[in-house]
Amino acid sequence: MTERVITCINCPMGCRMTVSLNDAGEVVSVTGNTCKRGEKYAHQEVTAPVRMVTAVVPVAGSVCPLSVKTREPIPKGKIFDCMAALRELKLNAPIRAGETVLPDVCGTGIDVIATRSVG
Ligand code: SF4
Repeated sequence: MTERVITCINCPMGCRMTVSLNDAGEVVSVTGNTCKRGEKYAHQEVTAPVRMVTAVVPVAGSVCPLSVKTREPIPKGKIFDCMAALRELKLNAPIRAGETVLPDVCGTGIDVIATRSVG
């Protein structure tokens, strides 16, 4: 049996939770969470952690860089590959907010989208 202490990042309360795992790495209990979202986050974090990725990328024809983000969280282990793919991205204006700028980033099945428009 092992224990991990993690902080829930789902709201500003930032509850510190203790997750107990059995020898097979399965979650046995979660304590310290104030709501069910924390328990769900704890399970995800110790078994298959994910994160949203945000970045800014240059756009040909625009003086301002474009802010982008993954449409959904991606596996934590793919973050560096995702950032490398974003560094290689070549975009041209115009781009609309919500438009996909990099589909299926690093084979995650998740798109990177623009978070604002550039004309
Ligand atoms: S457990 Fe609930 S209340 Fe606590 S930080 Fe997470 S979402 Fe917020």
